[in-house]
Parts: sequence; C-alpha cells; structure tokens
Amino acid sequence: QADTAMYYAKEQGRNNYQFFTPELNSRAHERLSLENSLRRALEREEFVLYYQPQVDFESGCIVGVEALIRWNSVERGIVSPDAFISIAEETGLIVPIGEWVLRRACTQNLAWQEQGYPPWRIAVNISARQLQEPHFIELVARILQETEMDPQWLEIEITESIAMEKGESSVEMLRSIKELGVRISIDDFGTGFSSLNYLRQLPVDTLKIDQSFVRDICPDANGEAVITAIILLAQNLRLKVIAEGVETETQWSFLKDKRCDEMQGYFFSKPLPAEDLEKRFLHPQG
Ligand code: C2E
Ligand code: MG
Ligand code: MG
Ligand code: MG
Repeated sequence: QADTAMYYAKEQGRNNYQFFTPELNSRAHERLSLENSLRRALEREEFVLYYQPQVDFESGCIVGVEALIRWNSVERGIVSPDAFISIAEETGLIVPIGEWVLRRACTQNLAWQEQGYPPWRIAVNISARQLQEPHFIELVARILQETEMDPQWLEIEITESIAMEKGESSVEMLRSIKELGVRISIDDFGTGFSSLNYLRQLPVDTLKIDQSFVRDICPDANGEAVITAIILLAQNLRLKVIAEGVETETQWSFLKDKRCDEMQGYFFSKPLPAEDLEKRFLHPQG
C-alpha cells in the first residue's frame, strides 16, 4: 500500500505530495528501518534458534525438534518471526538468514548427539525464496558436509502452497533434496488446496496438520473431520503425520485415538532456547 501511494504521488507531481498521509509515510519508514536493522542483525549475529519438541504418540519420546528463529534485538527485544520473515523474504535477506539457520540447526543437533543424547531429527523451515536459489541443493550438501551431521537427521519443512506449485522444477528440486538423504515435510497442511493426485507424486515424508484444525477439535466443529481425513490420507500414502499447535489434553487424546504419529505444541512444550531444552528434557544415555 505504501508503495502504491508513493507511485501515485510521484506520477502526479510535486503538488500531490500531501497524498502522503503521516500514517503511510511512517509505515514505509518503519519497513525501511526494519530492513536496515535486519541487515545489521545478520552482521552482529543477533538471531537465535529456539527448539520445539516433536513427540511420538506411541513411545512418548521426543523424536524431533523444530528450529524456530527469533531475533534478539538490542532495540526491540525478542522479535518473533511473524514480524520479520516476510520482509526478509521480500528483500532477499531470507537467503543469508536461512543459510545461517540451517548451519546453526545442524551444528546444534550434532552437538546434542555428540554429548550422548538419544539422536533426533532437526526440522528447519525453508522459504520459497530459498528454494528458488539456483544453488540451494549445493548449499544444503555443503552444510551437511561442514557440520558432519548425518543427513537422515535433517528434515526440511516447506509449506503446502510452495510444495504444490506445479512444474517439473519443484518436483525435481524436492527429488534432489531427497537424494541427499534429507527428509521433507509439508508444513501447514490442509490450508492450501492440494491436488491429491499431485501430492501422491511428491517425494515427501511427512504431513504437518495445520494448527487451525487442531484448534477446532471439539465435538461439533469441522476440525475433527478434516483431521481424520488428513490422517487417513497420510496412512494411505504411507506418510508420517504430525499435528502442530496441540495445546490441550482433549486435543492430545483425540489425535492419539485417531492414530496420529506425532505431536508438537504447548501441551508438551513451547519452543525453548537450546540451554533450557537441555535442562528440561535431555539426559545423557548410559
Ligand atoms: P510454523 O513453521 O508453522 O511454526 C509453528 C508456529 O506455531 C511457531 O511459531 C510455534 O512457536 C507456534 N506454536 C507451536 N506450538 C504451538 C501451540 O501449541 N499453540 C500456538 N498457538 N502456537 C504454537 P513461531 O515460532 O512464531 O513461527 C512462526 C512462523 O515463522 C513459522 O510457522 C514459520 O513459518 C516461520 N519461521 C520460523 N522460523 C523460521 C526460519 O528459520 N525460516 C523461515 N523461512 N521461516 C521461519
Ligand atoms: Mg514449520
Ligand atoms: Mg506450521
Ligand atoms: Mg506457519
């Protein structure tokens, strides 16, 4: 909106500069200042990863953690990804930020394994913009080599809408990722409009049921019907299925009943800094 306003103002000449309402002007300013702060944040290494456990319903064990970025800003405090990922995507900054996330996540996961904790997967969110980079596969391969983490422990999360973008190139891309031995998970599943036939052809391992459906688990909402359908679909396609945003015991027991494989949510744990996760959940084996 701010961009459109600027365009009109320029086109109509100097006399129309009053078209910039203070509100629009300050919003454009805020974006620009956010972009500049993000660049500095990258240089000063102000980003941190929090980790949220993914728990197996049958064993009750943590079998994976999702890495979720936070920005620990001097001026702004802890900033959530919803406040900066879209700007990072628009400006292309998500490419170097995403590279940092992948490297940090793999390094941390290997460190846990080396400390003798039972190994688990680390799931990393990847934006469309990163997948479009011509050397994305090489980057993933290089980071795996550098960090020496076994590829089987890395899972890449892409949203349903990205995964469903038709065209040879995205299928090819996902195949190449799988050839590295890395797992692929479809995030926010159920919110896009998947062609089931297309889904069948995608080399993916996991469907993550979007939290909006989990929130609707109560006897007379449609969330239950959608979840039941997604779990059946996953079982038939031999995919793992995980529910995110599980907050209550009612939701937990419904999902367990329906034979959902894994769950992630505040009911078990919020995303935590590495140190806090270790204190709460990690006990070396042996
Ligand atoms: P997402 O990948 O779908 O991650 C799940 C979000 O739900 C996380 O929000 C998580 O903290 C939150 N969540 C987990 N359990 C619960 C629960 O029980 N209740 C509720 N209400 N929320 C829960 P977060 O950490 O703020 O991240 C938001 C989104 O930002 C993520 O959604 C993901 O799309 C994006 N994101 C996070 N980290 C990265 C990253 O490193 N790279 C990229 N490209 N995107 C990221
Ligand atoms: Mg995710
Ligand atoms: Mg999600
Ligand atoms: Mg999301």
